[in-house]
Amino acid sequence: MRPLLKNKKVLITAGPTREYIDPVRYISNDSSGRMGYALAEAAFRMGARVVLISGPTGLKPPEGVKLIPVVSAREMYKKATTEGKGADIIMCAAAVSDFRPGRKQNGKIKKADLRPKTQDTGPQMLNIELVENPDILKSLGKTKKRGQLLVGFALETENLKKNALKKMKDKNCDMIVGNLNGVIGAKNTSITIFKKDGKTLSIKNKSKIVAANIIIRKALTAFRS
Ligand code: C5P
Repeated sequence: MRPLLKNKKVLITAGPTREYIDPVRYISNDSSGRMGYALAEAAFRMGARVVLISGPTGLKPPEGVKLIPVVSAREMYKKATTEGKGADIIMCAAAVSDFRPGRKQNGKIKKADLRPKTQDTGPQMLNIELVENPDILKSLGKTKKRGQLLVGFALETENLKKNALKKMKDKNCDMIVGNLNGVIGAKNTSITIFKKDGKTLSIKNKSKIVAANIIIRKALTAFRS
């Protein structure tokens, strides 16, 4: 039987991004990268040429997959823009930091840099101004070509359906994979897949590789419908 993704290029973003405040401190998001790596492995096993753009995770890249390691959201954005052009399927599973410090200090911030106390009580303060990072998924949604399939993820603490459907529209995705907070780093996952036609599919407590297979197969049907 012909592999499902033969001659297809699949691009996946995975893991967290790090936004450095100074040479040794950063802000980031909680993300193990496991879901993105499982998608990469599943897509490769289905015969695709797979490019995995990943923030720092410590995970071993799946065999046969081209890994592009990145650190910051802006680096991920640049690589995803370039690699996304020839991709048939793009799945953005990365937990991209929405903000970065407006200015990275060249040297380590010292306690002496803290703002002096204005009152006798309370700790000294350090203000860090944050600026918005590019939204990779949204940008890929804007440049989406005919025949290209775009899958986004939504990690929510509440109102999963409402937020997932809004995200699908705002970011011009074909499918959104939603999960409620609590699956980060876990071996197993529970997800709900939202399709453009309003159909949903919930999967409970499955390994991430099993979930990845289901997500890819569902994405292909979203494409055909
Ligand atoms: O809007 P929100 O961050 O909740 O959307 C999550 C989806 O958007 C995920 O697919 C995530 O990978 C993607 N995203 C992105 N770039 C950002 C923020 C989110 O690609 N800066």
